[in-house]
Amino acid sequence: MSQLTNADLLARKAAATPRGVAVMGNFFIERAEGALMWDVEGKRYIDFAGGIAVMNVGHGHPKVVSAIREQLDRFTHTCWQVAPYEGYVSLAEKLNQLTPGTHAKKTAFFSTGAEAVENTIKIARAHTKRSGVIAFGGAFHGRSLFAVSLTGKVQPYKAGFGPFPGEIYHVPYPCHCSTLEDTQKAIYQVFKTEIEPSRVAAIIFEPVQGEGGFNPIQPEALKWLRALCDEHGILLIADEIQTGFGRTGQLFAMQHYFEQTGVLPDLMTIAKSLAAGVPLSAVTGRAEIMDAAQPGGLGGTYAGNPLAIAAAHAVIDVMQQEGLPARGARLGDKLKDLLNGCRADLPQIADVRGLGAMVALELRDPATQEPLAAVVRDVQARALAQGLVLLSCGVDGNVLRFLFPLSIEDALFDEALAILKSSLYAGLAAAQA
Ligand code: PMP
Repeated sequence: MSQLTNADLLARKAAATPRGVAVMGNFFIERAEGALMWDVEGKRYIDFAGGIAVMNVGHGHPKVVSAIREQLDRFTHTCWQVAPYEGYVSLAEKLNQLTPGTHAKKTAFFSTGAEAVENTIKIARAHTKRSGVIAFGGAFHGRSLFAVSLTGKVQPYKAGFGPFPGEIYHVPYPCHCSTLEDTQKAIYQVFKTEIEPSRVAAIIFEPVQGEGGFNPIQPEALKWLRALCDEHGILLIADEIQTGFGRTGQLFAMQHYFEQTGVLPDLMTIAKSLAAGVPLSAVTGRAEIMDAAQPGGLGGTYAGNPLAIAAAHAVIDVMQQEGLPARGARLGDKLKDLLNGCRADLPQIADVRGLGAMVALELRDPATQEPLAAVVRDVQARALAQGLVLLSCGVDGNVLRFLFPLSIEDALFDEALAILKSSLYAGLAAAQA
């Protein structure tokens, strides 16, 4: 064990790093394996955050580690745009094939989710020769300046960072908490008072809003959006950065929606669990749209870095060989059963929802429907004290979300659920006392 202590490191962190990069944990990780992490003082944590939906295959998966090691020995960087390599091409081929729809597709790689999002907009604008973008309230599309402009949450993401680029319009997101009619009315209002539909390049949406509260889009609304896009020549962009790579019971959430509604997006973003923590993101889309940007218009020094590409190839193999999306769906069902089982005792559980292993629990005061954000924070703290790392989400901060590695062993999963349950009961009892 190292000589470092969490308290010393917290003090050094406060002095050396800005508060704008807020940190949830008051502990510093020394090593991680599977669904477990250990801090510098030797305390063990069960990781139900997965580095925010990045570790779907688990920490340090031997196949991923050895793929990265093998690449490390060959070369770490040449810049794809200068001296290309096979792995980039074959990963693009795989994603073109694995993403929903059998039409001709192409894929470009980037490093972060925000970068992928921004590039979908550049590609959509180049293809349509239009500028407007419609996004949704409660959306999260990243923190870089254009991506945060698409993000539909002011605190803490947008406050103080404006002005934002023009011709971005936010409308209500059609999920369990708002109706398709609200969305339709708002979009028609935008068309009437802000921008004509023939100047809108794209509508960008998350199939299940992540940071916004794990809100699955209504299938009927998705059908309507697709029809609206087709009517006006607008592109539909699915941001699968949080929903992707096995989390929802399929590799992509849009596979569920395609089966249900027949809707396909024109462009898709992929990141997070794609490369198990080595920074990699992708834009996959219709070949003719992807080719709209002129040579040199897309890319980046590190975009499609060889180590990340090698990791992603291994992640895809692991997902398939270990059947992780299906395993995640089974674990997600077990978690939902547990949470639904608590509802008789805990009327503050306003909702248990999600797709596959993308499960969330929403807490509200049963009498007033007030969001119980402070209770969520208390439950998180109680769980953390017992070694379970939980994340919250939701525009009102009153939702617990669960992003455990899909490879988590059954016994460890059961241990985590027991901690979750006791923290939930204790947190709600304390709030009533
Ligand atoms: N889109 C979605 C749906 C996300 O969940 C996130 C990250 N939480 C992003 C975009 C931004 O990704 P990154 O932080 O890698 O830029």
